[in-house]
Amino acid sequence: MKIVVATHNEGKLVEIRHILEQDLAARADGVELVSAASLKLPDPTETGVTFQENALLKARDVTKRTGLPAIADDSGLIVDVMGAAPGILSARWAGAHGHDRANNALLLAQIEDIPDGKRSARFRCCAVLIEPSGAEHVGMGEMPGHIIRRPRGEHGFGYDPIFVPDDQPGRLDDDGRPLTSAQMTPEEKNAISHRGKALRGLVRAIDDMLDA
Ligand code: IMP
Repeated sequence: MKIVVATHNEGKLVEIRHILEQDLAARADGVELVSAASLKLPDPTETGVTFQENALLKARDVTKRTGLPAIADDSGLIVDVMGAAPGILSARWAGAHGHDRANNALLLAQIEDIPDGKRSARFRCCAVLIEPSGAEHVGMGEMPGHIIRRPRGEHGFGYDPIFVPDDQPGRLDDDGRPLTSAQMTPEEKNAISHRGKALRGLVRAIDDMLDA
């Protein structure tokens, strides 16, 4: 069964494939995930005001154009002392889409005076699956943690270098500090991440589609 992942980011396709393969186990062989980009589908403007609205609009667009089941996700960082920010604006926080380094620098400057212990934050993800029948399934996930003062780590993307998840894999970095999500292996991060949790919420619905 072919499922279109509503993304133009091949890295995200790989991450979603990895998470779902682990959770679908042997049944993963029955699922072929392809990206919207590989089908030359347009990338719709994210006009929603919540993660769920944006995920749904991306997946609905793909199902409408292809008649195939579609998975989409939308996610971002929520810093408690900043209200819900950067939230759905996470990718564009410093203005230009996808400029991770500028986004991190701006956010760190904005909360520079906030003391350690009051820098709690969470990543949130909404993942959706839309069936050709129009049936919609929603999974939500969060990864709580806090924002540190200087980036560290080479893995991941976005705000990973400045975010230390509460849920740690049980090892420290070379300087004896808890790991940022950018210091974790992809497997370590997927096991605790907002995206992993949200996508796992869709596994039963994918299973049911395979059975139908
Ligand atoms: P997207 O909706 O998954 O494309 O994520 C939007 C933005 O949220 C990204 O451009 C990142 O800035 C941020 N973000 C979402 N998930 C993560 C993550 O797992 N690590 C770091 N940043 C993330």
